[in-house]
Amino acid sequence: MLSVIIPAYNEQENIRNTAKVIGGILTENSIEYELMFVDDGSSDDTWQIIEELSAEDASVRGLRFSRNFGKEGAVFAGLRRCRGDCAVVIDCDLQHPPELIPQMLQLHDEQGYEVVEAVKSSRGKEGLMYKMFAKSFYRIMKGSSNVDLDRASDYKLLDRKVIDALNDMPERITFFRALSSWVGFRTTKIEFEVAPRNAGKSKWSFKKLMRFALNNITSFTNFPMQIITWLGVLFFIFAVVMGIQSLVNFFSGRALEGFTTVYMLILLTGAFIMIGLGIIGYYMSKIYEEIKFRPRYIISVDTLDKDKKNKTGKDNSDNNGEND
Ligand code: UDP
Ligand code: MG
Repeated sequence: MLSVIIPAYNEQENIRNTAKVIGGILTENSIEYELMFVDDGSSDDTWQIIEELSAEDASVRGLRFSRNFGKEGAVFAGLRRCRGDCAVVIDCDLQHPPELIPQMLQLHDEQGYEVVEAVKSSRGKEGLMYKMFAKSFYRIMKGSSNVDLDRASDYKLLDRKVIDALNDMPERITFFRALSSWVGFRTTKIEFEVAPRNAGKSKWSFKKLMRFALNNITSFTNFPMQIITWLGVLFFIFAVVMGIQSLVNFFSGRALEGFTTVYMLILLTGAFIMIGLGIIGYYMSKIYEEIKFRPRYIISVDTLDKDKKNKTGKDNSDNNGEND
């Protein structure tokens, strides 16, 4: 069976249509499936619609978060709870063409690929600012951690082995797009053209994106810390040169001039120490966050648990170690 994991945040206009389109394509290709909508704490009617759909159609299942935890949480909740032999992660707005699913599944079934990544053949319509930020983000990620993400998307098919490997990762601050290549396995890529959003608008604000980028850079690389080390080395060379110069000045009786140098040195040292502390502080705060072992998300309703309860009369929801 194939699990289709669909994170949804305020997507009331899209749910029904997306379920119909994806369900249609999978049925047509006689693929057994479950559609898992993960409602990431929407404030509109998204959850009501998911609930209605799952009541009408046994292959639709919904997970509801207690608040908005972000797309990452939604994807990982889906991976944790899905029952398929493999899973596809896809956006709710049909920007990821679902027509590719049968082809991805074929690569998995017939050629034994364990990860099928759909990569963007172009980056779609994006504003200039957005493009600039995205470019430099991907450059830093690639230069420092060797994960090429420029055209990567969250649209992927994963084998059960990969899902289990991802579920076993203990970290809390995750970056699905990079982690799913980090775990390895036999991987192939297929290209797709980013479609325009079906309805509603993009859920990413500038602030959200900046936080996302910073989080991902710091969880994948120590690059910012290395900058400090190199600045330190440069500064040391500089200090040696200045030291020799002031010694020469001292012995030739022009020592008072050196006052400017001392002044400058103190200022510069102060600046570097502060930058250094800032960066160390940033990593420390991330260590703190990881070490709290807070769950990545909290599920308030799983339509599957409800079905089970109705059938067996008791609650046999196990939380699969989600909160361990
Ligand atoms: N999404 C989510 N939680 C969030 C933001 C987005 O689950 O906090 C979902 C959203 O419903 C959609 C997918 O993530 O299915 C991609 O979001 P969006 O289309 O807004 O991003 P874009 O395509 O503009 O990158
Ligand atoms: Mg989108």
